[in-house]
Parts: sequence; structure tokens; C-alpha cells
Amino acid sequence: MSYVNCPRCRLTVRLRDDALTPEYCPRCAAKHGVQSKVYLSATPARLFARPQTTAEPTTQPAAPA
Ligand SMILES: [Zn+2]
Repeated sequence: MSYVNCPRCRLTVRLRDDALTPEYCPRCAAKHGVQSKVYLSATPARLFARPQTTAEPTTQPAAPA
């Protein structure tokens, strides 16, 4: 399982096996018009950035309404 992480807004998206890897953060593009290059990791960035995880709802990419 791999995750796509945005260093700018800290968006973390879990990739499905058959999903295409986005090159740029969709949130930064949608909200700020910025092309922020994302990076892949085996674990969500927030997990190793913050060891004590709170029970957050699943981090799904919010579809812009
Ligand atoms: Zn972003």
C-alpha cells in the first residue's frame, strides 16, 4: 500500500493498487491554483510526523463540490 503526500498542505491520499499516481496535489491545485509536487511513501506522512495519532475520519480526497 502506498500513499501520496503533499508537503505543502499535508494532504495524504491512499492509493489503490490500480490507481494512477497523481503528480501534483489536487487540493493545492483546486484551492490555491498551485502545482505542488507530491511524493510517495509506504505510510501516511502524518503518521511519522505525529506519532500519537488521533482518531480521525478517513483521509479521503475531498471532492470539490
Ligand atoms: Zn497540497
